[in-house]
Parts: sequence; C-alpha cells; structure tokens
Amino acid sequence: MARTSGLRILEETTLKSARLERLEQLAARIETTGDRSSLEVRTPITDEPIGSIPGCTANDVAVAVERARSAQTEWERVTVDERAAILERFGDLVLERREELLDVVQLETGKSRHHAVEEVLDVPLTCSYYAANGPSILADADRTGAVPLASDATVTYDPLGVVGVISPWNYPLTLAMTDAIPALLAGNAVVCKPDERTPFIALALADLLTEAGLPDDLFQIITGDGATVGPALIDEVDYVAFTGGTETGRTVAEQAGRNLIDCSLELGGKNPMLVLDDADPETAARGAVKGAFTNAGQLCLAPERIYVDERRYDEFLDAFVGATRRLEVGLEFDYGSDIGSLIDGDHLDSVREHVESAVANGASLLSGGRTRPDVGPFCYEPTILTDVDPDSRVACEETFGPVVSVHPVSGVDEAIERANDSEYGLNASVWTGDRERGRAVAREIDCGTVCINDPYTVGWAAMDAPMGGFGDSGLGRRHGPEGLQRYVDARTIATSRIGPMDAPPGVSPRWFARFMLGLTNVQRRLTRWLP
Ligand code: NDP
Repeated sequence: MARTSGLRILEETTLKSARLERLEQLAARIETTGDRSSLEVRTPITDEPIGSIPGCTANDVAVAVERARSAQTEWERVTVDERAAILERFGDLVLERREELLDVVQLETGKSRHHAVEEVLDVPLTCSYYAANGPSILADADRTGAVPLASDATVTYDPLGVVGVISPWNYPLTLAMTDAIPALLAGNAVVCKPDERTPFIALALADLLTEAGLPDDLFQIITGDGATVGPALIDEVDYVAFTGGTETGRTVAEQAGRNLIDCSLELGGKNPMLVLDDADPETAARGAVKGAFTNAGQLCLAPERIYVDERRYDEFLDAFVGATRRLEVGLEFDYGSDIGSLIDGDHLDSVREHVESAVANGASLLSGGRTRPDVGPFCYEPTILTDVDPDSRVACEETFGPVVSVHPVSGVDEAIERANDSEYGLNASVWTGDRERGRAVAREIDCGTVCINDPYTVGWAAMDAPMGGFGDSGLGRRHGPEGLQRYVDARTIATSRIGPMDAPPGVSPRWFARFMLGLTNVQRRLTRWLP
C-alpha cells in the first residue's frame, strides 16, 4: 500500500499560495447582512485549515431567498431553450476548468483524483440531458377532454419559485448541482446550502454559472451550520431537495410537511450485492472493489453487504481479497492512488467502531481493518469482513466507509430474502452470466435502482431514468423526466366548445341525465378499448 504523506503533498505543491488564495476569493461570494462568526474549513488531507466561511443566520437566508425570488420572476419569462443554452455552456465550463475543480474537490474531501473525476463527468452529462429533453418535458401537453369533441384539456407547467438544495460532503460537486440544474431549467431560482465541511466547490460552481450567463441571484450559496441554516431555508423556499442522512431527512420532511411544500429526500443505504451461481467470480470481484471502495466507501450507492452463491463463494472471495489487498491508499493530487481519505476524525472513529465491534463479535477480517496515519490523519484501509453477526452494527447500519461484509448463500432465493431484509432500499446490484435472469431477480429487490453486472454507475449515469430510494432511503426521484417534473406545478386548462356542461335550454333534466348516462357508457367503452 502507498505511503504518500498528505502533509508533504500540501507543502510541495503550489496549493498553499495559489489554491488557498482562490478559496478566499470564493468565500467572498457569500453575502451576509452583517458581521458573522467565521467557520473554519479544514482539509482531511492534513487536517489543516484551508479557509473560512461565514456562519449565516436565518436573516441572511431570508434575504438570499428574497433576492432569488425577485430574480426568478424575470427568469421564468426566459424561454426554456435560452435557459437550456446557459446550462449547456455551464456544462462546457465545468469540463474546461476540470483541473481546478478536481483540486478543490480533493482538497475539501481528501478523495482520490480518479474518484473526484466521476463528479466532474456527472455535471455536464446532467446539463446536456436536461438541456436536450427539458423543453419537451416542460412543453404544454394536450390531454383528453371531459367530453371528446365537445371539450379539450391542456396541461401547462409553471416553475415553483425558489428551490432550496441541501447537499452533503461526500460528493460535494455532483450533489450541489445535480438537483439544481433541472430546477433552474424549469425556471426556478436555487439557494443551495452545502455541507459546512465542503463549501468551496459549490462556490466555484456558482462562479461558473455566472460565467455561463446565468443572471445574478438565481443561484446562491449560503453557508453555516446545518441545524441553523437548514430549517431557516426550508421555511423560506417553495421546494426542498435534500441529500443526506436518514435522520436529518426525517426532520426535513416534517418541516416541509408543516409548510405544505414538496420535497425530495435522497438518504442513506445498506446496499446489497448479489453474486449468483452463474456469475463470473473475477468480474464480480472487480465490481465489488469498484462499488465498495469508491470514494473510500463514502458513497450512498456503495454495496456494504455481498451475498454470494456458495458455489462461487471461494473463487469470488479469493479474487476480491486479492484485488483489495493491492489497492493503494494515498493522497496525491494526481491519479496515483486508488483510495483517499475519510472526511474527518469523527467519521473515522465511527467506521473503526463498526469494524472493531464486528470483530469483537466473531467476524473475521480478511483485509484492511487498520487506520493509516502514515498516509493521512483520517485514512482507513479497504476492509473485508466475513462471519459477521447479522445483528451487529456493521450488518444493519450504514457504515459509509471502505468496509464490506461477504456472506455465502444457498441460492438465489436466500440472496433475495437477505437483500430485502433491511429498512433501506437505495441501490442493489445483481451479478450473473444471464442478463434476463438478472432482470427477473432485479424485480424482486426492494430498491430504487438495481444494476446488473455493475455496482452503481450504470444506474446513476442513466440520466433518462429516475433515481431514488425505497423505505428509509428516501422520497421522490432525481434524474429523468421525474427529476424535472418535481420542480413544476401542473395547471390544467380545460375548454368547453358547447358552453356550460349542463342541460341546454329547453332540455329537461331527466332527458339530459339519460343522454349523459348513455354518453358516459360510450365514453367508458372507448376509454377501455381505444389505445
Ligand atoms: P447529514 O444529514 O448530517 O447532512 C446533510 C446536509 O444536511 C448537510 O448540508 C448538513 O449541514 C445539513 N443539515 C444538518 N442538519 C440539518 C437540519 N436540521 N435541517 C436541514 N439540513 C440539515 O448527512 P451527512 O453529511 O452525514 O451525509 C452522509 C449521509 O448522507 C449518509 O447517510 C449518506 O448515505 C447520505 N447520502 C445520500 C445520498 C443519496 O443520494 N441518497 C448521497 C450522499 C449522501 P452541515 O453538515 O453543514 O451541518
């Protein structure tokens, strides 16, 4: 395993001068209505401070939303095609400035560069998908009228107003933008509250949106402690798109419910991976490495429980353990290492506790299980456990780290049953040599996405398909038409060509009732028989 010191990296690069100066410029974007306390932002690479942000107050939030609301009234009059063109330009800029963005993501999160790249790729794809498909999804739609020929109905879609986006630290670039892009395209303004540990990448994106031509105040960042700024934001906006932990998600949903605004909640997962008897063990092992250890396992879609048909168990485990032991933990600002750091000391303690309590309860450690202070203060080795007690924390709760448990199962039925034995239902994967069999198994799994022969990318990156969770993994969907439709109010405009839908003058109510009953019968038949 690599022994690259994070401290040395910070000293050796030009980061301290040029990059930290850039962070200071970015922090200056945040507008407050008075002097505010300053929150220090530290890099997990060395646990040193890299900048500071204001701890905004409820008043700052109210003022930001007011400005956003005023900008939105103009923005909704801009054609969808013009909005789409600005977002496409923004996608281009993200690709053009990728090196700077990757540096900021790595600095804030400590993730490896090749995991950071997934974030940079995701945003332009989201822009292009909604720029290409948004205009038709938002176009007025003709629907069948109440009485064919005598009436019609058209549905129009209006933006909601101001959307609040509350995003977490693990994918700070992707998750600050993936919900904001369709919201803006639909004609809304967005006020985003990033996690206080990772504010700078959201600010860098706000800069690029301005450069792409987005009018002022339409996308704003407010910073500060989630428990203060989050509720203040939910009280001011017309919709909230939240990504984070399940318990915070419940409080967000409660508040949104009280305010009678809609919300989408992308929450945690305890994602199962099923390796069937006809799977290629080597391929499945490669998938397990990618799935379980991307972003050091701090990925809501990552598999944390692997159920392997007992006929493939030994081969799979050999391949998986071998490949995992070859992974290099490192903190370079290039593509040298496989896995970066965890986000901070509290999270490292929580991951370590999951592993240590599992081992104390009889689990076997086949790889990892150690911190790596020689690499960085919060680095932890990719870890594989077997013989895990089904009631231990690591078996039931989301670990959100580079830790996975592997379990033999007697066949596909047991694999499905154990996969579904969870309160969560975010993402699953099925590994098989027969894709049709994989699809049939997928239908039995209680998760919002089920990927076949890939751990998560094939589902997440299918921009045209919705993404979200069952059960404790959340509400609502991002991506696809559903990810845009959540941000509009549908209005039905119905027209009668024959005046009021009532008995015409001179026709008795009895005759009219008979006529209407006959007509209703014909209409029901037509509705059933005609496509
Ligand atoms: P949290 O729920 O603690 O935080 C998420 C965001 O919510 C942060 O910006 C946080 O602010 C803010 N927040 C905190 N308290 C409140 C509140 N009372 N009201 C409104 N907002 C609040 O989650 P984590 O940061 O710990 O993120 C990890 C979790 O997120 C994991 O469980 C993971 O599974 C889940 N997640 C889900 C994803 C998905 O797509 N389904 C993707 C990524 C993560 P601050 O931290 O600044 O105080």
